[in-house]
Amino acid sequence: MERSQKCLICTPLIAKTVNEMLFQLQLAKESGADVAELRVDHITDFNAESDLPLLLKDRPLPVIVTPRAKWECKADSNEGYEGNEEARQDLLRKAYELGADYIDVELKVAGEFVKKLKDSSIKSSTKIIVSNHNWELTPSQEEIDATIEQMWATGGDIVKYVTTAKDITDVARVFHFLSEAKGRPTIGLAMGPTGMISRLLSPKFGGYLTFGALSKGQESAPGQPTVQDLIEVYRVKSMDRETVVCGVVGKPVYHSKGPILHNRGFAELNLNYVYVPFLVDDFAHFMSVYSESDFRGFSVTIPYKEDALRLCGDKVEFVAKGIGAVNTVIREKDGELKGYNTDCEGALSAIEDGLRHSGLATNSESPLKDKLFVVIGAGGAGKALAYGAKERHARVAVANRNYERAKTLAESVGAEAIELEKLADFRPETGMILANSTSIGMEPEVTKSPISKDALSAYSLVFDAVYTPKETQLLKDAIEIGAVDVSGEEMFYRQAFAQFKYFTGVPAPERAMRDALSSPPVAHKGTLPTRTPPPRTFPVSAQCSIGMFNGRGLRVSQFVCAYPFKNGWSFSHSAHFGMLMERSQVPSGSFALRY
Ligand code: NAP
Repeated sequence: MERSQKCLICTPLIAKTVNEMLFQLQLAKESGADVAELRVDHITDFNAESDLPLLLKDRPLPVIVTPRAKWECKADSNEGYEGNEEARQDLLRKAYELGADYIDVELKVAGEFVKKLKDSSIKSSTKIIVSNHNWELTPSQEEIDATIEQMWATGGDIVKYVTTAKDITDVARVFHFLSEAKGRPTIGLAMGPTGMISRLLSPKFGGYLTFGALSKGQESAPGQPTVQDLIEVYRVKSMDRETVVCGVVGKPVYHSKGPILHNRGFAELNLNYVYVPFLVDDFAHFMSVYSESDFRGFSVTIPYKEDALRLCGDKVEFVAKGIGAVNTVIREKDGELKGYNTDCEGALSAIEDGLRHSGLATNSESPLKDKLFVVIGAGGAGKALAYGAKERHARVAVANRNYERAKTLAESVGAEAIELEKLADFRPETGMILANSTSIGMEPEVTKSPISKDALSAYSLVFDAVYTPKETQLLKDAIEIGAVDVSGEEMFYRQAFAQFKYFTGVPAPERAMRDALSSPPVAHKGTLPTRTPPPRTFPVSAQCSIGMFNGRGLRVSQFVCAYPFKNGWSFSHSAHFGMLMERSQVPSGSFALRY
């Protein structure tokens, strides 16, 4: 394969029956995958003679036939081919003979197997993938390189080396061997939560293919994204060596909506950028390992905002320095790191606009001037709010669970400190502004609020930094008592727009980025050409006896639900909705596909 060939997206298919796998194969095609890996070791009583021709006949996309050996699987996983080794290798040989697009054979047995195959009279265009899985760790670069040479020495056509990432910096060694493949088709991935970026960025480093699950719950290895994520969010099909990498650095980080937001912005402006989640254990070490100039921009979140401040040294812009927290780091052309804080501007501009749009402010300067601005919380967001409000000449008061922290913050910005328990009785005047910067009310504890509804009557505007859910209990109470409400989602958008400009040098396409969150991609966008129900279906409706399976709903382990989406079809199946799809979850106009 030429090094310039685009990285393929492969989806592993895991099914108990041949029919189920055939159906998944169709779904894989619909999902946009380029290749499907048939994990035939998962099929009960698989018969190579009769079942392989069924799987390979009229296949809608190229396939890899993989009867994974038990000894290559994770020790405690109970996975792998049940029969003996001879039968397993016969199966691989049969797939080769039938012209499967690829077969996957493990390094441990590949030498002899490949030699025999190539010396035999069988003529086949099948490519042989020689694979090696390390379920414990990512070895040293020298060890990896030596193993890879061993793999090439077997005579295979493609090498697949999969490791386990203990730390995100391990993945750099995987990127290194992909980059050094010198045109030889190589697959390199790191499993585990911190290995996620190996799957998202593999195309940038020349990986032959990357794996994406058919849907959440259908992963064949830990840390695998879905095909849909790879295509629609991370745009891996257009990624290349020049792609600039940005991302959110934190722990935890996979809940972040940043990738959906920023990647939609890059797509809108046709920028060769990608934004990924970086699950990091040591901020400084991470930044020192990923020090190439095309690892350009970083959104920094809990718990690294102060580490980022320290790392950027004297290259911290004055607002971030004043707040004492950096939420954006940019690697400049000379390699130096520069720190910014966009939380402050994001939150304060949202609050100011809230006042202006509701008619509570008419003056041209900041509508916060001279207002009493009460901040609950003294963490990173609290500091940004208190600092920003003071900069706008508001009178600021800080209440916090840990009163000492409230006092420290209050002293640093010239504000008053209040004990959290006394906040309910703090009503020196009416028309105050309230800004919550604690995590109270965040999912899953959505009924909690940092202050009672009664105590809100002294406030004309209430802001909540929490943005999951968008309408928190605090904001619901504020609306009920007639105060203006400003959501944390607005702050989130605005701080992200500012970061986008730091990352790219151009203004964020705000409309498109807002739309990205209001209409995120749905599962399995299909491409069936018409809205005519596909064959082997029956309508799912209130009249239809969807309760026939157990009286409560549709047992989707045996069915796939297809529902109209845009001009085509979307698919949901058992792993997506769980074992049972309740009637209320079945969109109108849906069809269940029998397989
Ligand atoms: P942080 O630095 O960890 O600070 C957390 C703050 O919440 C501290 O003041 C802490 O009080 C307080 N707190 C936590 N649990 C509490 C509880 N059960 N009762 C009372 N106080 C409690 O976190 P952060 O970065 O400031 O983030 C805080 C919130 O703002 C999070 O929900 C975050 O998602 C949100 N946020 C939103 C945006 C946005 O764009 N909308 C941006 C940044 C942050 P103690 O000092 O007593 O521990």
